[in-house]
Amino acid sequence: MTEEKRIEQLRKQLEKYAIEYYINDAPSVSDQEYDRLMQELIALEEKHPELYDPNSPSQRIIGSVLKGFEKVVHAQRMLSLSNVFNKEEIEDFVARIQKQVPNPEFVVECKYDGLAMSLLYEHGRFVRAVTRGDGSVGEDVSNNVKMIQSIPLYIEEKGPVEVRGEVYMPKKSFELLNELQETLHLPLFANPRNAAAGTIRNLDSNIAKKRKLDAYWYYFQNAMDYGIKSQQESLEAMKQLGFRVNETYRVCKSAEEIWTFIQEMASKRSALPYEIDGMVIKLNDLAAQRSLGITAKAPRYATAYKFPAEEVTTRLLDITLSV
Ligand code: NAD
Repeated sequence: MTEEKRIEQLRKQLEKYAIEYYINDAPSVSDQEYDRLMQELIALEEKHPELYDPNSPSQRIIGSVLKGFEKVVHAQRMLSLSNVFNKEEIEDFVARIQKQVPNPEFVVECKYDGLAMSLLYEHGRFVRAVTRGDGSVGEDVSNNVKMIQSIPLYIEEKGPVEVRGEVYMPKKSFELLNELQETLHLPLFANPRNAAAGTIRNLDSNIAKKRKLDAYWYYFQNAMDYGIKSQQESLEAMKQLGFRVNETYRVCKSAEEIWTFIQEMASKRSALPYEIDGMVIKLNDLAAQRSLGITAKAPRYATAYKFPAEEVTTRLLDITLSV
């Protein structure tokens, strides 16, 4: 097969997998397989710039905007993240930033396996919750998101506040949900991410009330308007305002420190009460983040390290053994 034909084949295949994953909440391949095919496509597209296509899955934030929910245009696009898969790629990422930012610090956070959400507050009151959708337009899923007990409906800040984070299904809720599905002879959910996405996109908010979801907030959209200067300060400020922020993060100064923390978290991963599929590395300084800008679908100041497939196998085995 020619490389041109392979590009065409990969684009079609990845588009099909994205529909299964984002729209039907029923993936037919593992995330690792999807990521592997995506990396192959990216490498081939880099080799053949003449075959550039803005609609390629590598260029787009693939998501969905569902019928049945009100559409909302994001004030700032909700982006995806670039991916790295090993220590060398982390070193390259850090070296690239060091070329442009002197002595950078990085905040390394868990990469929650749920669905991205934006929350908007005005005059100290919750206004709405919106999914990432296709990055530009999302769905207003406020009625379902309000069922998450940890989400504040009132905050002390009167000015407009937008925070973004991840809504997820804790492992315990997922187990209980699938036990119930089994008792009711209903199809089981493939994983907590699919279960969380399916719950948030259900038009009946009683479903969201029953299936205990939770959320972590990691991004303060308009932080600089409030004099906040770094990602670490953003996390602290969100916590002060009453948002649920994960304390498990580390400020690192080198690729070596980042890698050490990632290894630590990889070994603790199966014991966490929520699923993580990697670790996110973010430049700490917000002004420097802004100066680096964005690519077609992801910011340059951050990247996501994805855990390798072997650990997933081990984890699945752990779950099987503990059942
Ligand atoms: P992504 O999952 O690689 O990373 C971006 C997302 O990470 C953000 O949108 C955010 O929601 C999330 N995130 C979690 N914790 C975060 C934190 N602390 N800080 C910032 N962001 C955080 O990108 P994506 O575009 O959401 O999804 C692509 C991925 O989905 C693929 O790499 C693949 O693993 C999976 N996928 C799988 C299939 C399949 O068929 N199995 C199909 C499509 C996509």
